[in-house]
Amino acid sequence: MAVQFTSSMHAQAEVLLARASRWARGERNKDGMAFFLFSSSRTTKDGTPIYHKTRADGGWCSCPSFEYRQACSHALAAQMNAERQARHDAESDALFAGYTKHVVKAAPVALAPTKPTPRFSRGYADLYGPDDDTVDAY
Ligand SMILES: [Zn+2]
Repeated sequence: MAVQFTSSMHAQAEVLLARASRWARGERNKDGMAFFLFSSSRTTKDGTPIYHKTRADGGWCSCPSFEYRQACSHALAAQMNAERQARHDAESDALFAGYTKHVVKAAPVALAPTKPTPRFSRGYADLYGPDDDTVDAY
């Protein structure tokens, strides 16, 4: 099923996405499903803030729009964020792959065996001199 995001959803999703680093994130206890909490502009009658819970991949949201249309600005923002994160991860992987290749290539030189250094090459007496109480043996 193709989800239809309206232009106003796109506009609102861009606004949300600009603040993605400050999204409240959580994980569902029973299965670790990651979600974001988006505060609604509306409140309950007694003024209690309303939050919409949106699955991190954008595949589900608790808001009325998603319930009726299977699409909302929260789901779209989460989806765009996930795509952006995936691109970022892919870029990081590519950079890291290049780095690994470089290090592996350089490794024979960097890891060339060197003469082992005795762990305790200097004894206590070398460092501190003879103990006073051992100078004159009993
Ligand atoms: Zn929503």
